[in-house]
Amino acid sequence: MDPAQDHASDDRTDVLIGGAGVAGLALAVALRQGLGAGFAVTVADPALDKTPSDPRASAIVAAAQRLFQAIGVWDAIAGEAQPILDMVVTDSRLTDAVRPTFLTFDGDAEPGQPFAHMVENGPLHAALLARARETGVGLRPAAIAEFAPASVVSPGARELSVGLAGGARLRARLLVAADGARSGIRERAGIPSRGWNYGQSAIVATVAHERDHGGRAQEHFLPAGPFAILPLKHSRSSIVWTEQAAEAERILALPERDFHGELERRFGLHLGEIEVVGPRRAYPIGLWIARAFIGERLALIGDAAHVIHPIAGQGLNMGLKDVAALAEVIVDAVRLGLDPGSLAVLERYQRWRRFDTMAMGIATDGLNRLFSNQSDVLRLVRDVGLGLVDRLPALKHLFIREAAGLVGEVPKLLRGEAL
Ligand SMILES: Cc1cc2nc3c(=O)[nH]c(=O)nc-3n(C[C@H](O)[C@H](O)[C@H](O)COP(=O)(O)OP(=O)(O)OC[C@H]3O[C@@H](n4cnc5c(N)ncnc54)[C@H](O)[C@@H]3O)c2cc1C
Repeated sequence: MDPAQDHASDDRTDVLIGGAGVAGLALAVALRQGLGAGFAVTVADPALDKTPSDPRASAIVAAAQRLFQAIGVWDAIAGEAQPILDMVVTDSRLTDAVRPTFLTFDGDAEPGQPFAHMVENGPLHAALLARARETGVGLRPAAIAEFAPASVVSPGARELSVGLAGGARLRARLLVAADGARSGIRERAGIPSRGWNYGQSAIVATVAHERDHGGRAQEHFLPAGPFAILPLKHSRSSIVWTEQAAEAERILALPERDFHGELERRFGLHLGEIEVVGPRRAYPIGLWIARAFIGERLALIGDAAHVIHPIAGQGLNMGLKDVAALAEVIVDAVRLGLDPGSLAVLERYQRWRRFDTMAMGIATDGLNRLFSNQSDVLRLVRDVGLGLVDRLPALKHLFIREAAGLVGEVPKLLRGEAL
């Protein structure tokens, strides 16, 4: 029998997650693993019966790697995960003949643990979906179309009533919005998201090269924005190339030869001949943070709660912090016999995550403003700053541990502990 069928009847579930991206699936698996077969978890997403086609790769920091280990997903992706062994930061104009190095990072976040691994989004998503099936998560290939807060259904009701596209209805004690940056669930709940678009887009492509990268990540701060070369397995790299939105559209539409020319001007020839493999795509960039991460029997996670600039490769890692914190507060509550959708439980989640999210949003915004411009004065300031940091190994190590997600009040899953 399908393990999903023995606990999740068609019309009732404990937690309903809208969105089967990495955040939604990771939460589903963590909850099933923590609370067992008696606790029904359902994920609804129209994309569940489509073939995913995300050309991106993500820097998965040490804490997120621990979460994937704790929920039984890491072994399936470890073989294709490329450790980042060192990182080089340069700051120059596109026309400069040489790009002087201002900052280097190397070494592990903790002994034997690289600060991050590059993992392609496709295999990561596939591994999570397989683990969700294995742990008996109910999977519904339909969008969350509408829902009525419990208090509207009937005063004192302890469940929401949720309508799926296609007409099916589900009752749930808690609804989780994991439906991405343009979250319809957040909008329907009337929770505004505050922020702005940067007018920039990130062009993403995978590049194969003659020579191996040796696990080195490179971030070149060019006047239009950062150009990152992130190492993948099999002598390939993932490119995240920031441009003004209109320029990104122009570059994306170029015939293959011209695109290759533009790419090579930025990538250089240090790894030999390069070749774009697979599709190229552009993603608009913004900073958006939801005014609240919770509502009535509702919690927001991942991009539904916050979208940040990819400059530091932290967006998904922040979503995984939401997953770890929300899974922990739900599991604690259910074990104590409490209602996982109650305001007290959800407020604990919100307190845990909102401040950290604001801090990361502000940090990535500041970095982007400092680096994505042509001012010679700002250039001098940032290069002196980078040069100073480069000479202070203790400060660099602190930055590495912070970026690896190992600092502060870290939820259990991010410490690699079972719930
Ligand atoms: C160029 C670029 C590079 C990046 N690099 C990194 C990196 O290196 N490291 C990092 O940590 N982060 C990175 N990020 C950020 C990261 O990609 C996102 O934070 C992450 O993909 C968000 O995952 P999610 O699960 O929250 O949402 P999504 O992946 O957007 O998933 C949302 C899901 O919800 C579904 N959905 C939508 N509407 C509904 C509905 N009504 N009902 C049900 N389901 C619905 C969608 O079909 C989708 O499957 C990068 C982002 C960009 C743009």
